[in-house]
Amino acid sequence: ATVSAMEDFRRWLASHGAGDGGKAIPAAVPEGLGLVAARDLPRGEVVAEVPKKLWMDADAVAASDIGRACGGGGGLRPWVAVALLLLSEVARGADSPWAPYLAILPRQTDSTIFWSEEELLEIQGQCAMQKFLPVVVCWDLSVTFMLLLSLAGTQLLSTTVGVKEYVQSEFDSVQAEIISTNKDLFPGSITFDDFLWAFGMLRSRVFPELRGDKLALIPFADLVNHSPNITSEGSSWEIKGKGLFGRELMFSLRTPVNVKSGQQIYIQYDLDKSNAELALDYGFVESNPSRDSFTVTLEISESDPFYGDKLDIAEANGLGETAYFDAMRDACKSALADYHTTIEEDEELSGRENLQPRLAIAIGVRAGEKKVLQHIDGIFKQREEELDGLEYYQERRLKDLGLVSDNGEIIFWE
Ligand code: SAM
Repeated sequence: ATVSAMEDFRRWLASHGAGDGGKAIPAAVPEGLGLVAARDLPRGEVVAEVPKKLWMDADAVAASDIGRACGGGGGLRPWVAVALLLLSEVARGADSPWAPYLAILPRQTDSTIFWSEEELLEIQGQCAMQKFLPVVVCWDLSVTFMLLLSLAGTQLLSTTVGVKEYVQSEFDSVQAEIISTNKDLFPGSITFDDFLWAFGMLRSRVFPELRGDKLALIPFADLVNHSPNITSEGSSWEIKGKGLFGRELMFSLRTPVNVKSGQQIYIQYDLDKSNAELALDYGFVESNPSRDSFTVTLEISESDPFYGDKLDIAEANGLGETAYFDAMRDACKSALADYHTTIEEDEELSGRENLQPRLAIAIGVRAGEKKVLQHIDGIFKQREEELDGLEYYQERRLKDLGLVSDNGEIIFWE
């Protein structure tokens, strides 16, 4: 954002009663734009107040031409409705009431949805193939049997591709149903990249708790950046009624820690997100090992002669045909072999100076995946050793089901 765009934005905020006595100033910071304390601020101090009339949310959609063009916008998914509002307001240029806000929005973030194919390949190695490994799994010690453990070493890569496919399919339908039939609202044509930009803005700027119908872009408050050093639970914001009868809603942001004048105000975006999720949503990762993750998919092969029974058992244990365990600390060396670098090489690379941010994210995520896999491998080794000593629950279950004869032979009926 240019200096004059920033000045326009500050003026716009002030003229709409946003701010809070100028305690937090929108400014250029290493993370792009951010909020800088104009004076010493104690923990819990309100630093930004944004009246509802400035929010880009479902009500703003309903009151807009988009809303009029599609029956209040109620039939659209909330994020699609707000994305269309964003794009149509951008198309209005200086006529938009949000123009000064739209002018300071970044053209991109480092979210993996904006990466080139080449950049995405850095997350993985040469082998992007999904692997299936037979393993013995034990749930609640009540059921043990062979499942296929699928290890796609390309987690973030495949999630990113999946998200882009989803955005593409939403784009195709709004293109056909709304954009192409309302040329006046979208005078220049809207491309998939425009729509993806709007999706990326929502994904990176909407406060996580503002989901579904509550989804809203809150100008000004959405300039606050994330710091790994802020670990306080609970959100740093609330929605308050303002005015005599509390009718005008206000989004109110507080600083979770003391901030010295001139320093940046930060919040914690989400303690539960893995580095892969942070990379996808916001375009950054943390070095915190608890953010490392690897999702393991367990599935029962349909060609398994006991498919139906195993499925029944799995379901009785609260698992469907395919069970996902985030960061489940399980298996596997062969998945590790799919990465074209070792953890040590990644660590060496990430220590280098002037590393491109996207490469740093890719290295952070893949090193994290590998660390989880190694840890899982250790747990599995231990589990294997225990297995010998365990009573064979599988056998007992199968006996109960009449699938194993008393002498322990499995009965096949084909
Ligand atoms: N910096 C944003 C801007 O320029 O408009 C305002 C914050 S916005 C809610 C979230 C985005 O800010 C993220 O997608 C990322 O691009 C950036 N960001 C926030 N915290 C960050 C951090 N700790 N490290 C790197 N980038 C960060």
